[in-house]
Amino acid sequence: MSEQHQSTRKCGYCLTERNWTWTGERLRDGSKIFVDEQKRRWAGKRCPICERKRVQATIECPIFEKRSVTKALEEAGYEVRNQTPPLQACRDGVTYPVVIRHATLNEGKVELESPMPEDENQVCVLVFQSVRVLPAKQIENLRLKEAKASTMISSPPLV
Ligand SMILES: [Zn+2]
Repeated sequence: MSEQHQSTRKCGYCLTERNWTWTGERLRDGSKIFVDEQKRRWAGKRCPICERKRVQATIECPIFEKRSVTKALEEAGYEVRNQTPPLQACRDGVTYPVVIRHATLNEGKVELESPMPEDENQVCVLVFQSVRVLPAKQIENLRLKEAKASTMISSPPLV
């Protein structure tokens, strides 16, 4: 990699000045591919670290969950700021990052899928997973009550 391509750029999201080096390659749409010193890709104005957080948050919060998470936050008095993950919640003029964790109840104990980051300035949302086993006969009953069945199936998981 030649030195003359080396440069830094301020990320449009975390506002941190980071290594921004053109690899000499271009994407199919003609835009240049920029990486940091660890060869991690920039995504437009988003630095590799912010891009990784975005991808991680998208994995943690699929669209169908986002709706119920947003609803729960609003019921708790927060205003949900951005519509794409990572979500941010605002209350009393303060904006907090939203951390979402899948949780299960095991003999009355809450178990998290992955540990919560240690930060007091965040809002934590637990999405409880519930799994139900139905015998084929009951599924058939649900199909017969078509209207009821469709609401059951399309309703988002409980938060
Ligand atoms: Zn960034």
